[in-house]
Amino acid sequence: MGVDVRIDRIQLLAVGLDGAELTRASSSVPARPTPREITEALGDTFATLRSSLDHELLGYGFAMPARRADLGITHEIWGWEQVPMGDAFRRIAGESPCGVLDLAEASCLANSRQPQLSGMSRMAHLQIGAGATMALAVEGRIDLDLPPRWGDVGHIPLGLSDRRCSCGRDGCSNAYLSIEALSSRVPHVSVEEGPNRISRLAMAIERAARAGDVDARNGIEEVALATSRLVVALVELNGLQAVTIGGYPLFLGEDYSRLVDELVETRLGCPSPVRHTGLGDDAALIGASLVGREIGLSDPYRLRR
Ligand SMILES: [Zn+2]
Repeated sequence: MGVDVRIDRIQLLAVGLDGAELTRASSSVPARPTPREITEALGDTFATLRSSLDHELLGYGFAMPARRADLGITHEIWGWEQVPMGDAFRRIAGESPCGVLDLAEASCLANSRQPQLSGMSRMAHLQIGAGATMALAVEGRIDLDLPPRWGDVGHIPLGLSDRRCSCGRDGCSNAYLSIEALSSRVPHVSVEEGPNRISRLAMAIERAARAGDVDARNGIEEVALATSRLVVALVELNGLQAVTIGGYPLFLGEDYSRLVDELVETRLGCPSPVRHTGLGDDAALIGASLVGREIGLSDPYRLRR
């Protein structure tokens, strides 16, 4: 089973031994949730999924907005500072083996196994939402021995005009890439609170741009420029053959993707390494279920009972 814990929702996905989807369940997360509220939402959603499933669950994979469960989740928007969630995950998994990845890692794992990435031994995934994080897959595997803060690319200076970042410095990538940065350029476009707020906001801004809203179009172009700078830096640094992008930019439309490709191509002097898989925003959930399946199958005794 895969569990995807996002800023505003929890999604669960059970897959069979062949990887085929069995069933899903989801619930919303309250704004600025307490650890207890997240634990309860997890438990309730799991109970819903369990009631519609006769199968035995062999393994669990968790994707969450932090790199290591034992180190705890630090979440600026939730107001969490190193809140440990390992016990809550363990309670769901019971005696079964479980593994934890951050959202970028889970998305990276799932995308790296898609046909669009076949034959690419080094690829990275850039997850962009409240901030930017990245993960690296080599030969379809995620390196779990990297330091906890590795991949936190939100505070890399992009060489764009100075703009204040939430960390107090100027010019960090988050100051251009976070959904709040985009939203602040288009304050007249807003959406209701609730599940998938970030995706819905991105869609609303994209619609506004298509309808001729100049601020919305400029805002999206600015995100595309910042994305391209970050992609180029990551490709140069890591010798990447491909990069996938997840999070709210998936909802910014074709003009955004085309502009990112153009800017990256111009800068690198070769075809853009940015790839689009069919998984879209499902990548983290699919990646979590891959971890659950592989970690479950790695214990063959459980299959012989
Ligand atoms: Zn910063």
